[in-house]
Amino acid sequence: MMTSQPSPDAFDALVRTAQFQRTRRIQIPDFAYPEGVKLAVNFTLDFDAMLLRRLLNEPWGQKAKGEFGGRVGVWRIMEMFDAEDVKVTLFTPGRICELYPEVLRAVIQNGHELGNHMWEHEVYADPVIEDAHLTRTLKALSAIQGGPVTGTRSSHTPGLLRSKGVVYNSFTSAHDLPFYELDAQGENPILQLPFHYALDDAMYFSFGWLDTPNAAQRVMDVDEVFDIWWAAFEQQYKAGGYVNFLLHPFVSGHAMRVDIIQRLIQRIKTLPGVWFPTCDTLAQHILTHHPLPEAQ
Ligand SMILES: [Zn+2]
Repeated sequence: MMTSQPSPDAFDALVRTAQFQRTRRIQIPDFAYPEGVKLAVNFTLDFDAMLLRRLLNEPWGQKAKGEFGGRVGVWRIMEMFDAEDVKVTLFTPGRICELYPEVLRAVIQNGHELGNHMWEHEVYADPVIEDAHLTRTLKALSAIQGGPVTGTRSSHTPGLLRSKGVVYNSFTSAHDLPFYELDAQGENPILQLPFHYALDDAMYFSFGWLDTPNAAQRVMDVDEVFDIWWAAFEQQYKAGGYVNFLLHPFVSGHAMRVDIIQRLIQRIKTLPGVWFPTCDTLAQHILTHHPLPEAQ
């Protein structure tokens, strides 16, 4: 079978892109946690409920799964985090403040953090709409939080984010440690707290995720996922790295999945030096002790 070969020009463009990405993603030299901490584990929850399903015009069954997340799953998983005294960050679309305000008030009362996750799970190309959505979302979330929102999980424009007080993003897998990311013009640095899809519950448990064809659908054995996540944690623990679990209340809010996350936390706690901060707490530590290196 004939395969088409990319042209030399395309390779040149790839090399230029790789070089450009290297200049805008700035590693933190001698990265260190507070005294006594070997590893930070962030549990981050994308509180999408049915918003993305609705945006993609998915069938009613998918939207009902999202509704479960907002009405049932989020309460159940937050109850577990509170029982384990683990603080988490909920990346929350602004619209959720109208749909499920009670649970957001409860999570703030219990010491967790709200981060921006767009208005209705979409960043629009029109800068006027983008600004309006970000402004409206930050206003709604900070009213519940009782203070400023400092983080996002989104593709919002870095300059716009910074102008509204957002200092960190958790929206890339370009590194396995926190790092600073510049925008396309080499300006507006934002701290990135990277996640990885191997630590994303939807990759294992979300049947029909984002138009997945039947052959690729997955509902995995929870014990198998426990082993994968434990191995990932253990490797980062040995390396003194960073772990960011990405969970969705509509996926992980089911009882058997809440159970494996609780078992995972309990096993992690048997090792010394593990820190469970909110993303904002970790970001403030990094911004204070490891500011953007000078002289790029
Ligand atoms: Zn989301």
